[in-house]
Amino acid sequence: MSDYIVRAMAADNQIRAFAAVTRDVVETARRDHNTSPVATAALGRLLTGGAMMGVMMKGEKDILTLQVHAGGPLQGMTVTADSKGNVKGYVGNPNVCIPANSKGKLDVAGAVGVGFMNVIKDLGLKEPYLGQVALQTSEIAEDLTYYFATSEQVPSAVGLGVLMNKDNTVRQAGGFIVQLMPFADEKVISRLEENVQKINSVTNLLEEGHTPESLLETVLEGFDVEISDRIPTQFYCNCTKNRVEKALISIGRKDLNELVQEGKEVEMNCHFCNTNYVFSVEELKDILRRCK
Ligand SMILES: [Zn+2]
Repeated sequence: MSDYIVRAMAADNQIRAFAAVTRDVVETARRDHNTSPVATAALGRLLTGGAMMGVMMKGEKDILTLQVHAGGPLQGMTVTADSKGNVKGYVGNPNVCIPANSKGKLDVAGAVGVGFMNVIKDLGLKEPYLGQVALQTSEIAEDLTYYFATSEQVPSAVGLGVLMNKDNTVRQAGGFIVQLMPFADEKVISRLEENVQKINSVTNLLEEGHTPESLLETVLEGFDVEISDRIPTQFYCNCTKNRVEKALISIGRKDLNELVQEGKEVEMNCHFCNTNYVFSVEELKDILRRCK
C-alpha cells in the first residue's frame, strides 16, 4: 500500500506533527462515489485531514466524524475515521460542477459554501465529544486550523491538497498537521511560523516527489524531527449485508410487511462507500419471520 501517515515530534517535544500521502484513499473515494473534480478535491481534503485526526486518537475503538454542513452546491460532506488509519466519507452532491476560482484552481470554497463543521469524537465515554466551528474559508485546511485553535486550544498549522489528472483521476493527495505544545518557546513558534509561510502548496510539494517524511522535514526545517510511527491508511467501509439488514429490521414489522406485500425487491445503499445491497422478496419474507 502506498498511502500512509507519519507521526513525529520535533524541537524537544515542543511540536507534534503528522503528514500523510492519501492518493489511493482519495482515488478510491472518487471511483466509488463517481465525484466531479471539485467534489473529489473537497472530499479528498476532508478525508486526508480526517485520517490524520483519526490516528491522533489513542483508543482502539475510537471513532472520529467530521461533518461539514454548508449551503454550497456540494450540499455538505461527512468523513469518519478510526485510530488505525481507516477512513471513509461522502458528499451530498457528487456531481457539483462550478467554474474555477480566480487562481484558476478547483473552487472548493465555492462548492462547499458558507456553514459550519462538527467534529465528533466517540472515545468510548458516556457522551461523545462534540466541537462545532463556523467555516472560515471553506477550503477545509484553514477550517481545521480554526477548529484546533478554538475548540481544542492547540495552535496548529494544517495543509491539505488534492491534484487531479487531465482524465479526472486523482494525481496527488496528502497533507500535514503541525501542532505547538503549550510549553513551546517563542523561538520555536516564530521559526515554525516562518516555515509554514514558505509553503504555498501541498500539491506542489507532492508533485516534487515528497513523501510524508520529507514533507514533515520541509515544514519542520531547522528542527530535530523524530518520526515515531508510520501508519498505513486506506479508504475502508465496514458495511456488510448483515449490518444493512439490521437497518432494514429497524423500520419495523408493519413497514417490512408492506414491502413484502408489494412483492418487489428492495435496494439499500451505504452512503459511505455507495455499495448497493439488494434484498429479494424471499429474503424480505425471511427477515420478517425473524423480526418480532
Ligand atoms: Zn459501506
